[in-house]
Amino acid sequence: MQIPSRTIQATPVAPGIAIGRVMLLHSSGSRNVPVTTIEPEEVSAEISRFHAALDITKKQLHDLREQLKSQLNEKEADIFDAHILLVDDRTMTTEVEKNITTERFGAEYSVHLAVEKFSAAFAAVPDEYLQERAMDVKDVGARIIGNLSDRIPAQQLHDEPRIIATSTLTPSETVGLDRERVLAFAVETGSTTSHTAILARSLQIPAVVGVPKDVLDALTIADQLVVDGFSGKVIINPDGATLDAYRLKQQQAKKFYNQLSEDNDLLPVTRDGFVIELAANVDVGDDYSTVRNAGAAGVGLFRTEFIFMDPARLPGENEQFEIYKKLLIAAGNNPVTIRTMDIGGDKLSNAIVRSEEQNPFLGLRGIRLCLRERRDLFETQLRALMRAGVHGNLQIMIPMVSCMDEILETKKIIAELQQQLTGENIPFAANIPLGVMIETPAAVMISGHLAAEADFFSIGTNDLIQYTIATDRSNERVGHLYRPGHPAVLQMIKLTVANAMSHNIPVTVCGQTAEDISMTPLLIGLGVNELSMPPGPMPLLRRTIRQLAMAECVELAEQALKCKSAAEVMELSRRMIRRCVPELADV
Ligand code: PEP
Ligand code: MG
Repeated sequence: MQIPSRTIQATPVAPGIAIGRVMLLHSSGSRNVPVTTIEPEEVSAEISRFHAALDITKKQLHDLREQLKSQLNEKEADIFDAHILLVDDRTMTTEVEKNITTERFGAEYSVHLAVEKFSAAFAAVPDEYLQERAMDVKDVGARIIGNLSDRIPAQQLHDEPRIIATSTLTPSETVGLDRERVLAFAVETGSTTSHTAILARSLQIPAVVGVPKDVLDALTIADQLVVDGFSGKVIINPDGATLDAYRLKQQQAKKFYNQLSEDNDLLPVTRDGFVIELAANVDVGDDYSTVRNAGAAGVGLFRTEFIFMDPARLPGENEQFEIYKKLLIAAGNNPVTIRTMDIGGDKLSNAIVRSEEQNPFLGLRGIRLCLRERRDLFETQLRALMRAGVHGNLQIMIPMVSCMDEILETKKIIAELQQQLTGENIPFAANIPLGVMIETPAAVMISGHLAAEADFFSIGTNDLIQYTIATDRSNERVGHLYRPGHPAVLQMIKLTVANAMSHNIPVTVCGQTAEDISMTPLLIGLGVNELSMPPGPMPLLRRTIRQLAMAECVELAEQALKCKSAAEVMELSRRMIRRCVPELADV
C-alpha cells in the first residue's frame, strides 16, 4: 500500500531529476540492531527464518565469488570461501540458536549478539590473521542480518531501476552498487562533500541528503518518488500533474546539458586569454570515454581507495597494475594523477583499518595510515603505480599530508622500490612527478617547504574547508558553517598559490569547490591553474570560464580577501557570475 502524497525539502547533493519506485536498503554499516524478543511458541519459526537467511547468504556469497572471478579474471576466491565457511560454522550457528531458544531474542538480535561475541574474541588475540577474521565475522553477520529483514543488502538490487531510500549509505556500499539499476539516492545522513555524495556525482546519479528518518521509515517498495537533485525536493507518490511537470523538467535539464556539451571541444580559456585546465575526477570502473567526451585535459584525481573497499578482498600488485595501466593507456598523452589510497575518515575499509577510532577524520587517515600501519599495502600500491607509469603520463599524489616527514619518507620508499624493481629486472617509470594534496591547514602553513619537495599541489577543498573551519564535512548539523567562501579558506588558498608560484609548480583544486560555479571567479582570481571535477559538471565550468576575464577575477579575489564573512564573499562572486554568465546563474 502506498503512503499519502507529500513533499519533503531535503538538501541537493548531486544534480538531475529521477522518477521511480523505492528501493529500501539494509545498510551493512549500521551497528544498531534493535532488541527484539519472541514468545516460546515462535522459537521454531524463528530458527527456520534464521536458517533460510543462512541459505540466502551462502548463495549470495557463491554468486559474488563467481561474479568477481569473471569480472577480474583472477582466481582470488579464498576470502569468499572463508566467508562461506563462517556461514556454515556450527559454533556460530549454535550460538545464534541458543540466543533464540534460551534467551528468546529475535533472529536479527541473536545474530548480532553472536557476531559481537565472536568478533571480540578474535580481535582480542594478538595475531594479525585472527584479528582480520573478526572483520570477516562482522561482515558475514551484517549480510545475514540484512537477509533476515525486509531491507536488502546494498549489493542485491531489484531488477527494475529504482530510487534508493536509506538512512545511511557508506562509500563502500555505493561503489558496490550496480549503477545501471539505481535512479537516485534519497538519504538521511551526509552532505555535499561526504564521499557518498561525491560518488553519486561521479556516477551522475541525482542525490539528496537530509531526508527525515520518519519519512524513510514509512516508505515501502510500493511508493513512487520524484527526487529533484537540483532543488532538493523529494515528492512522495506525486499526482499526475506533478509527474508531468517533472517529466518535462527532466527533459529540459537534459536538453540544456546536451547544448552545453556541444562546446566540449572548446578550450577553457578566459575572455582575456588565460587557459584554466579542466581535468577529471574519476573512480574505479569509470569509463574513460566519458572523460574524453567531456573534453578533459586528463585525470586530476583518481581516488584509489575505492579499489580497497570490498571487505572481502584486497587487490594485489598485479591487479592494481592492470587497473592503473588501463587508465593510463586510455588517457594517452594526457596527464593522469593517481592518488595513493586515502583510507580513513568516512572511507573505512574493514579489510584495511585495524582499529576503530573516536575521531576518524583526525585519525590514522591517508598517508598516515600508509606510513604507520599499512606500509605493506602502500609499498604494493607504489610498486604497481611505478610499473604502470611506463604506459602513460602518470603523476602520483599523496593525500592528508600534514608534515614534511610524510613527503620525505614517501620519497625514500619510492627510491627503495626503484632499487628493488631494478634488481628484479621489472620495467618501471623513473621520475614520476610527485604531488602533495593541500588539505590540512598545517600543509598550507608549511606549503613553502612542501613546494620545494613537490612537483605540484592539489588543493583538496573538501577537507581543507573541514579542517580550517573545524566542521565535519559529512555532518549536516554543522552544514551551515561549512562555507567554501569563508575568508579563512580564501586566505589558505592564497598562501598555497603564492608558495607554489615562488617554486614554479602548478596548483589544481580537486575538491567539490572546483565544480561550484559560484566559486569559479574566486579560484581563478586567486591564481589556481587547474580545476578537477567529475565529467558531469565540466561543460558548465567550461562555459563559465570562457565568459570570465582573468583581470576581473583577480580584482574580485582582492576584494573578497578583504571581506569579513562568507556571505559577503559569495555575494560579490555571484554578482560577477550573474553579469558574465547570466544563463548559468540559476544552475
Ligand atoms: C578533498 O578533500 O577535497 C579531496 C579531493 O579528497 P576527498 O574528497 O577524497 O577527501
Ligand atoms: Mg580529501
